[in-house]
Amino acid sequence: MIDARAAHDPSSDRRIRRIAIVGGGTAGWMAASTLARALGPRVSIELIESAEIGTVGVGEATIPPILDFLRLLGIDRNNFVEQTQATYKLGIAFRDWLRPGHQYWHPFGLFGAQINRLPFYHYWHKAKVQGLAPTVSAFSLETALAEANKFIFPQNTLGIAQELRYALHFDAGLVARYLRGYAERLGVVRLERKVTGATQRDDGFIDELVFDTGERLRADLYIDCSGFRGLLIEGTLQTGYDDWTRYLPCDRAVALPTEIIGPRPPYTLSTARPAGWQWRIPLQHRVGNGYVYCSSHISDDAALDDLREVLGQEPLADPRFLRFVTGRRKLFWNKNCVALGLASGFLEPLESTSIHLVASGLYCLLDHFPDRSFDAANIAHYNAQMIDEFDRARDFIVLHYCATERTDSPLWQYCRTMPIPDSLTERLELYRRTGRVFQRQHELFTSLSWFFILDGLGVEPRDYNPLIDSVDFAQVKSLMRQLSGTVAAAAAAAPSHDSFFTASALQRRAAR
Ligand SMILES: Cc1cc2nc3c(=O)[nH]c(=O)nc-3n(C[C@H](O)[C@H](O)[C@H](O)COP(=O)(O)OP(=O)(O)OC[C@H]3O[C@@H](n4cnc5c(N)ncnc54)[C@H](O)[C@@H]3O)c2cc1C
Repeated sequence: MIDARAAHDPSSDRRIRRIAIVGGGTAGWMAASTLARALGPRVSIELIESAEIGTVGVGEATIPPILDFLRLLGIDRNNFVEQTQATYKLGIAFRDWLRPGHQYWHPFGLFGAQINRLPFYHYWHKAKVQGLAPTVSAFSLETALAEANKFIFPQNTLGIAQELRYALHFDAGLVARYLRGYAERLGVVRLERKVTGATQRDDGFIDELVFDTGERLRADLYIDCSGFRGLLIEGTLQTGYDDWTRYLPCDRAVALPTEIIGPRPPYTLSTARPAGWQWRIPLQHRVGNGYVYCSSHISDDAALDDLREVLGQEPLADPRFLRFVTGRRKLFWNKNCVALGLASGFLEPLESTSIHLVASGLYCLLDHFPDRSFDAANIAHYNAQMIDEFDRARDFIVLHYCATERTDSPLWQYCRTMPIPDSLTERLELYRRTGRVFQRQHELFTSLSWFFILDGLGVEPRDYNPLIDSVDFAQVKSLMRQLSGTVAAAAAAAPSHDSFFTASALQRRAAR
């Protein structure tokens, strides 16, 4: 007879007892914090990092789920904002992407109102067909606030602001420090060591990490957060990499911080340039700038000169050059190793996806948390889910390039005719024919986000949704007038974004 208690006796035990995280960048400390919080003291967690190698140190813009991540860890938002010199972000302004001189918005939050169960953008299509020239800022509070450099938090009392969505811009170095403190308080042990490699068991699973001191460390589960090099997932396990350079040809970046001049905008500014694009991210204490470019169209020196010239300001630090290959590992979880952050793959930072994908990988890991038998079906399910999320995010970013009208440089000429993933072709076609976009399961970007980019880039549907004709359009127009009035009034009444970072505002927040 089977003794049910023995069968479930944790001491006969296949439980994971020890986790080693390699890497102390944003990904490593996010992993340490989340796993320590979720697993408690029964699982020991060691994080190994090497000051000699250092971190990427960029990664300053986020998307709204960052606030869920903070909530999950029980971190006080105000304290986090204080400690990481963060500002608030209501979306992204894309300048010169369709053609020089053009600008469009990808705001967070709602757009207009649902009417008869149908999203507002279907009515927007009909309004355009009828010759109206609606603007996004009339129906998106986030855009109206961003255009005026203003900000408010979601507010229960103010109808339209109830659903306001925002994210953070922060200093990546300070975030890693903050999360390190958090994780260490929960018992995570940090080891300052250089990992030179890992030994494997007969079945290929990682057995031990080997340090340059000659010491070794054995764990049940290894989390590879070692950055682009993918020390374990690639170096040891040779998992393979899907290279997406043909869809996303930018492969380098140079970052250059400057002083704040003028108000801090509550949005990321992304400006297309002849050989790539430039980011501008306002923090409390400085502005993060960078140029993401394609090395076959511009040299490092020319990219830096170009960036310096458009900034027209003395930088606060030396330029930081970064090289990358856009793509992802063929598997994110291989045997007893899960790769997160840059070790798992890289999507250029156009839509601030990387830090979110770390969090998403962690939630997915908790949903699939293994025991030491490392069930293959469980691992396959994790990989399928994460691959789907990565690939759909890739499609979304490719859209920003492929729908351009620019012909002024070899990069943009390439983007107009480059191959695009079949999954993106299907979406584009469906939108062009019907004006519809559908969000898939596990997809980060909503139908509304897809709409903002498609519409912003001038992709016009052949027709609008026929169901719209069953609604009295005079009433719709009247509702549109009402909505735009409400948005404008709420934006006019809002305080400036900068007012959240005056000395007295910071003191008030700290005291709360
Ligand atoms: C140009 C650029 C702009 C970006 N902008 C954004 C953005 O706006 N928003 C966003 O979400 N993301 C952005 N990202 C991505 C973001 O920077 C990363 O996702 C994030 O920083 C996580 O990095 P990481 O922790 O995976 O790697 P890293 O920061 O590279 O950290 C790697 C760690 O591994 C350790 N390590 C490596 N090898 C060894 C070894 N042999 N022994 C011991 N330790 C080792 C290092 O010491 C380091 O601690 C950007 C990336 C780039 C390149």
